[in-house]
Amino acid sequence: MAVLSVDVNNEAIRIEVRATTIGSECPDCESWSSRVHSSCLRFPADVPTAGRRVVVCLHVRRFFCPNASCGRPTFVEQVLGLTRRHSRRSERLRQVLAAVGLALAGRAGARMARVFGVPVSRSTVLRLVAAPPEPRPPAPRVVGVDEYATRKGRLYGTVLVDVETRRPVDLLSDRKASSLASRLAERPGIEVVCRDRAPFFTEGAATGAPQAAQVADRWHLWNNRPTPPVPTRPGLRACRLDRR
Ligand SMILES: [Zn+2]
Repeated sequence: MAVLSVDVNNEAIRIEVRATTIGSECPDCESWSSRVHSSCLRFPADVPTAGRRVVVCLHVRRFFCPNASCGRPTFVEQVLGLTRRHSRRSERLRQVLAAVGLALAGRAGARMARVFGVPVSRSTVLRLVAAPPEPRPPAPRVVGVDEYATRKGRLYGTVLVDVETRRPVDLLSDRKASSLASRLAERPGIEVVCRDRAPFFTEGAATGAPQAAQVADRWHLWNNRPTPPVPTRPGLRACRLDRR
């Protein structure tokens, strides 16, 4: 971006900018074009500073798409990190409002936004919270598989965890070998399955991720180890084994 002028008055800061790139990419077919059709002005609102509104006066160009088979004959350039289609706010202002909305929700978020100089409705705050796409987690390489209880002693499901990032990957509502196998099969990049020694996990991992090495995780090895014999009277030892 090139800044052409900055105008400061009591209410607002107006920054006139234009993109310095020669061309732009068609949003539909991703063809690069430098053939200008026309140009116009956009005014995305930015985060206020020093008690003043910040308005970016942005010169944008409309380009011809060079791809004859593309359904979009012309397109308007977008500035990465600043604008997006049909948005009247800069990306930075959208992120700030989304963070406020995540912390405070709609009504309180709108009130807080007005305090720092951005009049916005509560439904807009909620819409911005819902707008960012969910980040796609990286494909797991080492997957931990274990049970979780929705009702202890009665209802169990299966949890899949990315062992390297320590983030949950998936929750299954049951602990059947077939369910585990189908979920593992959706992720062909798995190299290691880390599990306890339950037979349904063994079978599920072998069917769903036959390429992966199966290892017993340290926690289960340690906690499911046989109790060492107690060097006391024979009667006492028998009693303890009965209780187990
Ligand atoms: Zn195109």
